[in-house]
Amino acid sequence: MSTSTEVLIQGGGPAGLATAIALRLQGIACTIVDAVEPADLDKACGEGLLPDALCALRELGVRVGPTDGYDFSGIRFANTTDSVEACFPDSAGIGVRRTLLHQRMRERAEELGVRMMWGSRGKPLTANSMLVDGVETYFRWLVGADGGASSIRKGVGLDAGTVRSQRFGFRQHYEIAPWSERVEVYWGDHEQAYVTPIANNCVCVVLITRDAKANRKNILEGFPELAKRLKNAPVVTQQRGAGTVTRRLKRVTKGNVALVGDASGSPDPITGEGLAISFRQAQALAECIANDNLKPYEKMHRSIGARPHTMSLLLLAMDRWPRVQRWAIRALASRPELFEELLAIHLGVESVLRFAWRRGPLLGWKLLAPRSVGKTLENV
Ligand SMILES: Cc1cc2nc3c(=O)[nH]c(=O)nc-3n(C[C@H](O)[C@H](O)[C@H](O)COP(=O)(O)OP(=O)(O)OC[C@H]3O[C@@H](n4cnc5c(N)ncnc54)[C@H](O)[C@@H]3O)c2cc1C
Repeated sequence: MSTSTEVLIQGGGPAGLATAIALRLQGIACTIVDAVEPADLDKACGEGLLPDALCALRELGVRVGPTDGYDFSGIRFANTTDSVEACFPDSAGIGVRRTLLHQRMRERAEELGVRMMWGSRGKPLTANSMLVDGVETYFRWLVGADGGASSIRKGVGLDAGTVRSQRFGFRQHYEIAPWSERVEVYWGDHEQAYVTPIANNCVCVVLITRDAKANRKNILEGFPELAKRLKNAPVVTQQRGAGTVTRRLKRVTKGNVALVGDASGSPDPITGEGLAISFRQAQALAECIANDNLKPYEKMHRSIGARPHTMSLLLLAMDRWPRVQRWAIRALASRPELFEELLAIHLGVESVLRFAWRRGPLLGWKLLAPRSVGKTLENV
């Protein structure tokens, strides 16, 4: 028995589904093969969709409505002594339960006629065929959207690249009315807990740490302010954990194979950018496949990841050196408009170069002079 499809996508997570949707919008036939059934496809995630992710979903025609989640208008950073917050420049983000986001994306894929094979695994046969559920499946293009541990990436030899850090994430939902319109990031020494409002009566909390042996039972241990807030809030989901790797690959294509989403490398989850860049990569890849040429995808992929990876390095530096983290939050708390500008850079609304030109020398000097930072920042 045999069958064929133009594009075979291994992995039906957000990146695989976005790729399939983008391909169908170009009129290209595609099939998704995912090892897991949708009902079991929950994943440790902060569940925050930044404005750019929402914009990409809109372009793909995925309907995430206001009743699907909880809007947030910005970000707040806090440690035990200081805090600073800022609004997004022009639009809101939304916290959406991961399972519901997946459902909305599946609905759209189904509407566009994507063939989806859940609970199935593919076994590579040749460069243009795979055995899927005992059926030889022929394809022109193969897309690896099979997450951080991608077997397609390893199989075709695209593993070469840089691994910047390896951390662990633990997720938990609490039944409580959100107390803030922001995603809150609580900074401890070498770990962060961040809170995304996802419904009128629910928040999602993620602990990200370098310590594999972190106290998984009490992810709030190092965060007294947060622990106090959630003291009486019932835990409403089973805790989920995930390893997370900050990785950049040298190449994301080889022959007729292309990687997308976490399979193609990812910034640290603290950036909150994983979904947004997966959707942008999916759109770029579909465009290249439609043009019968994967070559431009390398450049497009690098450009989509450039800003999130730079922000990832800065945030990881704050994680690695607690003193830097404390200076930075204190400095930003004394001049919240700087935080607002950094947030605009993070979202791609403001350019890094323009910011560096305007604020860089003085800000760098202040950060390198921690004792006087509070006073002298007045003059930035
Ligand atoms: C702790 C944590 C918090 C995060 N918080 C946020 C956040 O708040 N906002 C944000 O934008 N991003 C966040 N991210 C990042 C985001 O979750 C990822 O970038 C996103 O899930 C990438 O999607 P993906 O489809 O590439 O991979 P995945 O979601 O991992 O999907 C991969 C799919 O491939 C399937 N698969 C794997 N192997 C095979 C195989 N051999 N055969 C068939 N199928 C296979 C899996 O079943 C799965 O469905 C977070 C990540 C972590 C770890």
